[in-house]
Amino acid sequence: MNSENQKYLVASLNERNKVIAKLKSSMFSIEMDELVRKAIDTYAAKIPTNTCHQCNEQTVMTSKSMNYGIPFKEETHNIILHNFPREYCQHCQMDILELRTMAILEELIRFEVLHSLKYEKKPPKELDFKDLIAMSGEE
Ligand SMILES: [Zn+2]
Repeated sequence: MNSENQKYLVASLNERNKVIAKLKSSMFSIEMDELVRKAIDTYAAKIPTNTCHQCNEQTVMTSKSMNYGIPFKEETHNIILHNFPREYCQHCQMDILELRTMAILEELIRFEVLHSLKYEKKPPKELDFKDLIAMSGEE
């Protein structure tokens, strides 16, 4: 089994940080799993920009809509993803999409489609990035 498909996500923490995590979990009366989900949900930092590989100009952050075609069995489900923040080079007029991030994003969108189909619902036609990345509780 691929380790990414397993339920556990392992974080490496030193002894002091583990005690801090346990203290916060205890103080807020929430399970460690919930604390981790809430921490990831509320984590907000500026996404770093880089220089463009083509022209070496500084990139900017942008968020436009993107179309996704998610194939499943005989059908392709088309989904429009709104407000996905990503780098853009104003000089080259090109989006700069990081392959690893895009692969993970597609995996998440695919997950949404399959989840809908599993419960015999129609897959969403549109998704907002903020809603898409909100963590759900344990099932
Ligand atoms: Zn450029």
